Amino acid sequence: MLVVAILAAAWVAGCQTSTLGRRQFKLMSATEMSGMGVAAFAEISKQTPPSRDAGVNAMVSCVANAITGTLIGVNARTRWEVRVFADDTPNAFALPGGKIGVNTGLLQVARTQGQLAAVIGHEVAHVLEGHANERVSASFASQTALQLLSAVANASNPVHGQMIGLLGAGVQVGVLLPYGRQHEREADLIGLDLMAKAGFNPHESITLWHNMSRAGGARRSEFLSTHPSHGSRILELERRIPSVMLLYQGARASGRIPRCS
Ligand SMILES: [Zn+2]
Repeated sequence: MLVVAILAAAWVAGCQTSTLGRRQFKLMSATEMSGMGVAAFAEISKQTPPSRDAGVNAMVSCVANAITGTLIGVNARTRWEVRVFADDTPNAFALPGGKIGVNTGLLQVARTQGQLAAVIGHEVAHVLEGHANERVSASFASQTALQLLSAVANASNPVHGQMIGLLGAGVQVGVLLPYGRQHEREADLIGLDLMAKAGFNPHESITLWHNMSRAGGARRSEFLSTHPSHGSRILELERRIPSVMLLYQGARASGRIPRCS
């Protein structure tokens, strides 16, 4: 009976709702997630050299700053760091703690500032919606349910510390693996809002996914290996674009006219 009560308490404590109304189960604090994101970013930065191409760096920073410049609240107070990695894989990522990484290879697929904004908007949306927290929470809930219970019941319990330690070791698993279908869908739609608010034409997201589709293949990339088919995500984006055109027009009218190319 006690176990049931504790389970229920943990569930209630961990339950939140995403922007699009989906129930979320998050056990980690924002501070813990930031720590993991920063650690993972440091690890990647050790393994992959930065791009020395000044033009590429300037363009990526310009687009990323335009996107993060639309954020409000705690996300606006985050100091977002953007880094371009010299890596031919067409990939990008954003991590809790305000870290954004873009591979030089992505620019073969995202060829305009608007297409790049669609990617960065998508990645930042994963962070805003706390998707990494959900994935970490779910994997813990399944792996170590009993430990989890005692840890959640008492954050000062040493088991809680062990969990955090495990997370550190498994940081790549926690924050860097491709996301599932629901997370991808949310990142697409929230990302579309972000690019529109920043003054990038939302229609460019459609072109981006057509480019991705043509790039195809089994290369390891967040975009090329995830579940939603390109066709279905394009359909969903096309459905949402009319409702974000007002955001886009409002942004342009208020002087948000990015010139990053
Ligand atoms: Zn994604």
